[in-house]
Amino acid sequence: MPAWMSLWSLGSDLSPADFRAIHALGFEGVEVWAEHGGSDKHLQWAVEAGLAVGLHLPFHDLNLATPDPVVADHVMHVQLGWLARLAAVGGRHAVLHGGYAWAAEDRRGAVERATERLRELGQLANRQGVRLLLENLCPDKLGYTHWVASTMDEWLDLLKATGASACLDIGHLAVMGTELSLALKQLGSRLQSIHYADNRREADEHLWPGDGSGITRGVWDTVDRMGYEGPVIYEINPYIYLREDLLGRIKQGLKQ
Ligand SMILES: [Zn+2]
Repeated sequence: MPAWMSLWSLGSDLSPADFRAIHALGFEGVEVWAEHGGSDKHLQWAVEAGLAVGLHLPFHDLNLATPDPVVADHVMHVQLGWLARLAAVGGRHAVLHGGYAWAAEDRRGAVERATERLRELGQLANRQGVRLLLENLCPDKLGYTHWVASTMDEWLDLLKATGASACLDIGHLAVMGTELSLALKQLGSRLQSIHYADNRREADEHLWPGDGSGITRGVWDTVDRMGYEGPVIYEINPYIYLREDLLGRIKQGLKQ
């Protein structure tokens, strides 16, 4: 499986030389972080550096589960623009970090609205030759809000109902409390991308592999045995690791 780098890990201050350096470090692709300033340039620079390209769609203020029709129209408009920009550079996949929290008492409505809009976005992506992926999330342990998707069953239902493929974030999965082998079995061929980082099973820490409780141990071998051939994307916390520290760790060898 090819190793990719999520640009979230490196921050937004990037130059074309950084993309050539990412390639030289052994990464075959990058997942561009749409919310970074300059991310449209990052798409171009990645292609010019010979890297395969995916896109992490924006999500912080674009709630797919919103009950407000004006907000919903804006969300679809912005995401459609990103799908077109990705398609223009031959990008392979666009991943939606659910992030779609809504008040817990309207959990059912939130999931229904997210399902409907996800289905529509998937159709728009298909028309542009881009594969839309939905990422699993961590539940709100306080129970105030409902995140889409918060459980394995909810995620599988969303994937089946919308035709979206899956981006499995193994850190989110550990916080969700689902074992990797079970998730892989349930996802089957829907699995098209993996977000790779460690944590201590309590919070979404995005630690370097080996810095948490070992949830990354054996992942490469396990997914390889399942016949998975998609990217394994390092998605490491830029609020914990300085870029120089992270690059230094990578130079010592990609952790598998
Ligand atoms: Zn992720």
